Amino acid sequence: MPVLSTISHEKNELSHFRVDYLTLNVRSFNNSSIDSSAKGRLFNSTTIDSSSMAVDDISNSPNEKFLLILGKPGGGKGTISKKILKDFPDTEHISTGDILRQHVRNKTELGKEAKAYMDRGDLVPDEVMISLVLEDSMTAIKSGKHILLDGFPRTIEQAVALDENIDVEVVVDLNIPTDTIVERIADRWIHPASGRVYNYSYNPPLHHGKDDESGEDLVQRDDDKPETVRKRLDAYDKVTSPLIQYYEKKGVLKTFSGTMSDKIYPEVEKWLKDMGLN
Ligand code: AMP
Repeated sequence: MPVLSTISHEKNELSHFRVDYLTLNVRSFNNSSIDSSAKGRLFNSTTIDSSSMAVDDISNSPNEKFLLILGKPGGGKGTISKKILKDFPDTEHISTGDILRQHVRNKTELGKEAKAYMDRGDLVPDEVMISLVLEDSMTAIKSGKHILLDGFPRTIEQAVALDENIDVEVVVDLNIPTDTIVERIADRWIHPASGRVYNYSYNPPLHHGKDDESGEDLVQRDDDKPETVRKRLDAYDKVTSPLIQYYEKKGVLKTFSGTMSDKIYPEVEKWLKDMGLN
């Protein structure tokens, strides 16, 4: 079966899963009970069939915010996200790359199909990604926390789908020079079984080439190999960087430039506080 049709088949399975998942996780959905002021916490019925869902027990607080972090692959989104989560503990992190890698590790059908795209440095199709994110966001919405989306949206189509469901209020755009990224990615090695990430420059393992906890070998992610990295950076320029203007026009984006996450982060933290994140 061709990859794309397998993916859409998988997506259908995913949709069934989504309904079960939502039925389990959201008690009594009733669209009419949704206060329009709560749009930021909601999904509309054009994206998800709401007939079997329920959100009337989702309380919306105006203090809960949807954040995005944008930036080139390998540009420190993960590192900055971790710092945000530490300083703003009422925040739920949704990293689409992490979710996909978990599927790959668990060898799910989705993981097997997504791996082909990821290994080539290509983007996974929008429809698959939109379903994935909306599921995970639903859990986060239930938690009543801020949500930090990392790695999504990656295309204008994904951004539009998100907009139909969620009010994005804060977008952190990391602008890191490409040369810095290429060096950094070459130094990034992982422990495949756990997903633990090391970097020989600033977060080295205790023993070269070995995972700190298991002592097992570290490997380079297939998509961290130089030719794939170049492809991912090109894809970022072509399809993801237009999102910067998209969110700039909405007045919710701020760009942070530099080469060191430790130097950039204090500015990010200050801006998030100015934007009302607590
Ligand atoms: P990341 O760790 O965010 O760089 O994601 C690793 C890979 O997962 C990407 O190179 C894509 O193949 C895939 N991926 C992650 N997020 C998305 C997305 N929003 N849209 C399409 N593909 C994605």
